[in-house]
Amino acid sequence: RGLLITIDGPAGAGKSTVAKKLAKKLGYLYLDTGAMYRVVALAAQRLGLDFQDKEKLGELARTLDFKLVPAENGVKVFLGHEDVSEAIRTPEIDRLSSVVARIPSVREALKIRQQAMGKDGGVIAEGRDMGSVVFPDAEIKFFITASLEARAKRRYEEQKQRGLKVSFEEVLSNLRERDERDSKREVAPLVVPEGALVIDTSGLTPDQVLEIVLKEIEK
Ligand code: C5P
Repeated sequence: RGLLITIDGPAGAGKSTVAKKLAKKLGYLYLDTGAMYRVVALAAQRLGLDFQDKEKLGELARTLDFKLVPAENGVKVFLGHEDVSEAIRTPEIDRLSSVVARIPSVREALKIRQQAMGKDGGVIAEGRDMGSVVFPDAEIKFFITASLEARAKRRYEEQKQRGLKVSFEEVLSNLRERDERDSKREVAPLVVPEGALVIDTSGLTPDQVLEIVLKEIEK
């Protein structure tokens, strides 16, 4: 049985980069829980649902036919048979995912799926509430963070590379707004989970972060 390792932290801190590298290195499953909130947001947007309608959004999260499929570069996300891996990574879905993530019934529905995927171990669970709410008994927990500037810079480079036309200022304010919503919400706000090792990645390369993480795991 493999370990259950959680990685939480704010947007753009480099969580998914280290989670993917770690999963590859250890041969573990990379559980990208942000992708789940994103696919619910995308489906809700396509259906034209009211983002204030908690009941409808909860029902959507409970019944939505989506899949996370391990892929060379992380995960591929399918909504029904459609590959929406790219469609869930737009600035609009950044925003809407944190809007649906405030709704308790949405979180409850996704938590059930997350726990089912993590129950046998051998998993790197990445998100905002992995070590605090979904897997409080995880063997190893990390909280990965970085300065707002550093995070915005990374996100900006990422989005530019993917061909999205955004300005640095837009990325910065988008991140700030999302952090605010994720940290101040009533259910499962972003916190440093008890027992988590905090890593500030501001001045570090992805490989340096991986090294720190591996050292902690080998302890
Ligand atoms: O990590 P990612 O940026 O893909 O997550 C998108 C949004 O989903 C976050 O801003 C957050 O609101 C929500 N989320 C969450 N809990 C998680 C993972 C993501 O609330 N475990």
